[in-house]
This record gives sequence, structure tokens and C-alpha cells, in this order.
Amino acid sequence: MEIDTALWRETSPTVRDLCELRETVWLNSGLRPAAEGLATAPLTAADVADAAARLERFAPYLAAVFPDTAPAGGIIESHLVEVPRYQELLGYGPGRLLMKLDSHLPISGSIKARGGIYEVLYLAESLAMKAGLLRYGDDYAVLAQPRFREFFRQYAVAVGSTGNLGLSIGIMSAQLGFRVTVHMSADARQWKKDMLRSKGVQVVEYAADYSKAVAEGRRLARQDPMCHFVDDENSQTLFLGYAVAAERLAKQLAERHIPVDGDHPLFVYLPCGVGGGPGGVAFGLKLLYGDHVHCFFAEPTHAPCMTLGLATGLHDRVCVQDFGIDSLTAADGLAVGRPSRFVGKVMAPLLSGCYTVTDERLYRLLRQLADSEGIHLEPSALAGVPGMGLVADYATGRGIDLAHATHIAWATGGSMVPPDIWQEYYAHG
Ligand SMILES: *Cc1c(COP(=O)(O)O)cnc(C)c1O
Repeated sequence: MEIDTALWRETSPTVRDLCELRETVWLNSGLRPAAEGLATAPLTAADVADAAARLERFAPYLAAVFPDTAPAGGIIESHLVEVPRYQELLGYGPGRLLMKLDSHLPISGSIKARGGIYEVLYLAESLAMKAGLLRYGDDYAVLAQPRFREFFRQYAVAVGSTGNLGLSIGIMSAQLGFRVTVHMSADARQWKKDMLRSKGVQVVEYAADYSKAVAEGRRLARQDPMCHFVDDENSQTLFLGYAVAAERLAKQLAERHIPVDGDHPLFVYLPCGVGGGPGGVAFGLKLLYGDHVHCFFAEPTHAPCMTLGLATGLHDRVCVQDFGIDSLTAADGLAVGRPSRFVGKVMAPLLSGCYTVTDERLYRLLRQLADSEGIHLEPSALAGVPGMGLVADYATGRGIDLAHATHIAWATGGSMVPPDIWQEYYAHG
């Protein structure tokens, strides 16, 4: 089907602003009461609970093979931190700004350590069980034994990535013993490719963007019956791995005595690429907090694929290039031209809105966060920060009192960035 992009531009102020690369706020008029929106989703709370239980089963294995997960007993989780100096510097209020430091998740230093690692573990468990090598009650630390590495060696894993998903899938798969290939888009940073190669991962480089790397990876994987392709654009397994974050966050909020209810709404701002990471987290949060949580996706002005897909209702039938937008951004984790159809459809009734941010703002926010709080992130991970300054109209329109609101900017990556490269980011800001 031919999309009349000129007509969209004329009739939709949101589309016009996105095409002009302006920072844009899109409020979702399709937002439904959470119970209604969740009822239409193909996944349920039981699916998320199943994923959480699987991660518990693997915890002894992860603690054994990745020592930095041992202090938390093999559970891959990040800190929730207050950033009072940053909030003051940015002049945001009322309410409290916190950051969820997925930037510092063990193993791969980004939100992809949730979904990406989960999908590889899911695969390993199902293969080992089918072969009669593993049962539910076993101590999964046995998976570190050479006989399992030999077993997994028969199988291959492949993925297309802008970088961080490749790191997660690559590191986890190689550790288990899988043969693993990562198809990297042109946006992927050299250090990520180098790191993967040093771990025995095969890295295939493309001059094209993320969608092309995924398509080519998917095509090649199909030719190998022993190969599992991690499909970032459609995978419900990845999505569930991300969704487990919600109950972990709820525990952290409860520990801090931060309520989430009608008088204490929770606002969560999630940097969005193809949509699986932010979609999974937001879905998990809606399951837990229903109408008391308000989720927003944040994208770069040069790659607003999810905003375009949702605002037009066309999802993956449109890509940013159709609208003359280049998808070139310093936010490499978000440099995606076409959104996930699966995520777009699940989130259409659940998401409060989207907004876009320029690269210049991301760099400035990166510098200000380092100066005020000493936290070092990669550019993509700052996209959630401006959200707190953008929701006044949304709150007024829905009669939400922001006086006692909690705002969480999901800081999605950064701790693995080599210091010299991080210094370049900082200098830019
Ligand atoms: C991948 C990524 C995201 C977004 O996740 P998607 O599943 O692609 O939407 C956000 N931030 C960083 C740093 C990432 O690597």
C-alpha cells in the first residue's frame, strides 16, 4: 500500500512537526482504562510471572558465571536513585525525579540485559529440557559444566542490532556455548563490535540501518535449522524479559515508602527504539499499577518511528524514511526507522504518549547529569529525562494532580562505554 505522506503532513500537526525534526509531544487519544487496554493484549500477568520464575531458576547459574551478579544472587537488577541536584538544575517540579539505572545492569550495561539475556536463557532451558539434560527442580549452576557447553555448541543464535542487543545476546550466548552471530547496523559503535569479537562472537557489519541488519540476519538464520533468530521486532519472549522489570521496580518503590495510587501518580519515561524494551517495561507497570501509572516513550527527533507508527495508526507499515526523516542520531540505541508492530498494537491503548528530543539536548543532559550527580550515561539513555517537564498539559487534561507525583526517567545504557568515548560525549554537551 502506498502511504500518502504529504496528506499526513497536511492533516496531522504531530506528523508535520516530526517531519520538521521539531521536538514534539504526542498525547495518545487512544489511551483506555488499563483494565480495558490489558484485556486486548495477547500476554497476561501469568506470562510475566512465568518469565520472573525462569530468571529465578537461572540465578544460581548467572551468579556462578558472571561474578558481578553474585552479590544480588544472580538476579540482574539495577538501582533506583534519587537525583535531587539534577532535578534542581533542570528546574523540574513539583514532584520527585528518580532514575532507574539500567545503564549499570550487570553483564551488558543496558536495558537489553533484561530482554536479551532472558530470551537466550529461555532458549537454553527449552533445548536442554527437550534433550532430557535439565529438569525444573535442578540447580541450574550445572549449566556451567563443559558437557552443557558442548551440547549448546550444536546450536546457533543470531540477532540484528544497533549495538546493545548484540552485546547482551552475544555475551550470554557465547557464555552458554552457543555459536552466535550478531548482524550490526551502521550505527553500531566500533567498541561494541570489538568487545563481541573478543568473546568469540561473529560480527557481521552492514552499511545500512537497523531494519536492514535485522532483515538480513533473519534471512540467513532461516537457512540454518539449528539457528534461533532473536527477533527484536516481534519477539514476545524478549518483551516478557523486559516486563519483569516492573515487579522489581515496585519492590524498590515499596522499600523507599513511595506510594503509587490516585494521590501519588507514577510517571515513567522510557527511551524507545524498536519498542520492545520500553513496551515490555510499560506493560509490566500497567499490570501492576493500572491507571495510576502513566508511561511515555521518548525518541530522537531523527528517529521517531514509534511516535509516527502510533500517531498514524500505521505501525510498521511506515518508516521514518517514508517521511523524509533520516534515522541518523547520536542516540545509537534508538536509531530505528521502523517500529515493532507487535509492541505498537499492545501499547496503543496503554501508552499515555510519546515525545521527541534533539541530539543536542541529549548531549547537554548527559553533561549536566555527570556534573550534578556523577552518573555517566550514553546519549540514548538521557531521552527519558525531559519527560517530567512535558506532562503538565497531559495531567491537566486528565485531572491528575502532580503535587505528589513520582517521575522515573529510565536510564537505559552507558556503563560499558569506554572512558575516552564517554569523554567525547561529555565534550559535546
Ligand atoms: C535498545 C535500547 C533502547 C530501546 O529499546 P528498544 O527495545 O529498541 O525500544 C533504549 N536505550 C538503549 C540504550 C538501548 O540500547
